[in-house]
Amino acid sequence: MSDCIFCKIVRNEAPADILYEDEYSVVFKSINPVAPVHLLVVPKKHIISVDHIVENDKKLIGHLFLVAQKVAAEQGIASGYKLAVNVGRAGGQEVFHLHIHLLGGWKNARDRDIPNMP
Ligand code: 5GP
Ligand code: ZN
Repeated sequence: MSDCIFCKIVRNEAPADILYEDEYSVVFKSINPVAPVHLLVVPKKHIISVDHIVENDKKLIGHLFLVAQKVAAEQGIASGYKLAVNVGRAGGQEVFHLHIHLLGGWKNARDRDIPNMP
């Protein structure tokens, strides 16, 4: 059993503001938001990064994007949002359990560009 922080959130062993959950995924608020809406779409399966996705994960990865779409609509940001995935330490990844950043809710276009995202 993995003791990674996102696995602990998935198992309800660590607190998080969870907005969506199904059999394969969970969506919760980032602890350090860089946009008015900053959510993390996380598979329940512990996959280290995009670099560790295997053939058998193809359906799960597609599912994560559909969950992002659904939650974006629920959050009222379906008109426009960003999805971002940091891959590896050099790519800015800090939590080594795969996650898609779902970002949106900006009032002004100039706020959309997030330096060193995210
Ligand atoms: P990364 O840099 O790995 O792509 O992004 C990690 C994300 O997870 C960041 O948005 C960071 O704020 C968030 N994060 C890190 N630790 C925790 C935590 O314990 N709880 C929650 N809710 N978010 C976390
Ligand atoms: Zn994990």
